[in-house]
Amino acid sequence: MTGIRKNLSRRAFIQTAGAVGLGSVLGSSMAGKPAYGGTSTPTTALSTVPKRPFGKTGQKVSILSLGGVLRESDQLIFRQAFRMGVTYWDTADSYGWGRNEKAIGKYFAKFPEDRKKVFLVTKGGSSDPKKLSEKLHQSLQRLRSSYVDLYFIHYVSDVESELTAEVKAWAEKAKSDGKIRFFGFSAHKNMENSMLAAAQLGWIDGIMVSYNYRLMEKEKMKRAVDACAAAGIGLTAMKTQAAFSANFYASIGSETDEASQMTRRLMAKGYTAEQAKLRMVWENPQIASICSAMPNMTILQANVAAALNPRELSDGDRQRLRHYAMQTAPGYCAGCAAVCESAVDPGIPVSDAMRWSMYHNGYGDRYRAMRHFHRLPSGVKAKMRLADYDEAERRCPQNMPIGKILQQALEDLA
Ligand code: SF4
Repeated sequence: MTGIRKNLSRRAFIQTAGAVGLGSVLGSSMAGKPAYGGTSTPTTALSTVPKRPFGKTGQKVSILSLGGVLRESDQLIFRQAFRMGVTYWDTADSYGWGRNEKAIGKYFAKFPEDRKKVFLVTKGGSSDPKKLSEKLHQSLQRLRSSYVDLYFIHYVSDVESELTAEVKAWAEKAKSDGKIRFFGFSAHKNMENSMLAAAQLGWIDGIMVSYNYRLMEKEKMKRAVDACAAAGIGLTAMKTQAAFSANFYASIGSETDEASQMTRRLMAKGYTAEQAKLRMVWENPQIASICSAMPNMTILQANVAAALNPRELSDGDRQRLRHYAMQTAPGYCAGCAAVCESAVDPGIPVSDAMRWSMYHNGYGDRYRAMRHFHRLPSGVKAKMRLADYDEAERRCPQNMPIGKILQQALEDLA
């Protein structure tokens, strides 16, 4: 078991123990009421995750999507997810260097009849049509499928330069060849700008975007989500736990106190903090699905329980999450790269580096963080070390101590 998997398992166990689990949801006297406005057939209402329309595609998808990096030995997780109605599966050519796609392919080889019932999504990181064709071909081989339901360009941050007329023509051809049904992109930074621009394009079917109880309160994000909904673009939320640099924050704030107070209060009401964060996102019907890394049965079961639980969050619960988000804002990078990066040397990837630092400080995934920092050219690292971040910090809406976090990351991870 890797460090991150071990960390997640332990955290999930601690945080779900004694709280709302699948068994208690199914046995609840409230079972049978619709969960989160999704639709389910009467015979499956008690046991499978509901579905929602994905934009104007005419396709309904499960409100919980199986994400993260699973291995070929994780077949039981795929099987159990499918049985629980988690039939939207998300992957990318880069996840585990193709390992995740191979694991899904192994499942479809064993259960070929399940392929048509799964909404299968993969991604490739390029705007070059030739490379996109090669990447899609390789993904389909690994997935052992002749098509994917949705193909995303990974990590789009500038729609104008990345979603070109050539890319549009490529997507149309891939659709007419029967290799993809729908097309879109994922966005980890400058999300709102990309969403607003995509809503104007008229040929984007879906977007996977960082969206959570912190970001959903921001006016620009609300406008961007409204624009996508009006344009019929299906939205999938990722990073819904809004993991943040807890280790770092602990040195400048009292995250532990804030988190434990919130967790205590939520658990008294029958939710884990993780489940409450998912539910905040599902309360917005404009979000079709939440993509969540579920590397073990404990997390899968806890997330499904959250999706099936018919109890609404109370105003007090929402307030608690908002309060927690405000109190811990300086530990969470909102991905608004244009704000801080326009205040430093143009070559310094502030937002990316903050995210990589969070992989280490928030997820406990030091290896993943180091991999990104090691890839930075030495000249960029030197610029980052010498840069003055005062103006960027003044502009940062999260009041993040950018200079301190980046210097620390360069020392620990580069
Ligand atoms: S460091 Fe601040 S300004 Fe820069 S992307 Fe993160 S939240 Fe936005």
